[in-house]
Amino acid sequence: HRSKSTGLPGAKERTLVAVKPDGVQRRLVGQVIQRFEQRGFKLVGLKMLQVSEDLLSEHYCQLRQKPFYPNLVHYMTSGPVVVMVWEGHNVVQTSRTMVGHTNPTEAQAGTIRGDFSVHVSRNVVHASDSLEGAQREIQLWFQAKDLLDWDCCDQASTSEV
Ligand code: UDP
Repeated sequence: HRSKSTGLPGAKERTLVAVKPDGVQRRLVGQVIQRFEQRGFKLVGLKMLQVSEDLLSEHYCQLRQKPFYPNLVHYMTSGPVVVMVWEGHNVVQTSRTMVGHTNPTEAQAGTIRGDFSVHVSRNVVHASDSLEGAQREIQLWFQAKDLLDWDCCDQASTSEV
């Protein structure tokens, strides 16, 4: 039993990241996961699913009136997505930086979109854009029981090893 938290302040922040259908089809799931692991974030939920139009219209509720929305629905339902919850210090903002600009033309090299995509309609990944957005999206995509709270082996106290 561990009574003391060993994490940094805000280490329990969580965000939703998804590899979109083009990313799955292009075998980029592993590379996306690798970047988040390597950066130092903790994976607390993961699943693959074929998205329904209902879920998508909730997820993108602020975009329903946009001219590109029908194409976005077609894109996002064109194959399975891999959706994840990542946890760690400042993970919402850092994930957005790692993902890069919405339009890959504007995305810097070194970001996921900047390294793996060329067009806004096939930009490989999603990441929540704010703390409130992350909370809303995590609840929409995951049941609480499917998000796991776990400790790292390198944080165990010496009495446990
Ligand atoms: N999108 C598009 N055309 C546009 C703007 C957005 O196809 O002109 C798509 C793109 O896949 C984008 C998603 O709609 O990732 C959601 O747009 P948002 O502005 O929320 O950008 P994001 O948060 O994904 O960077």
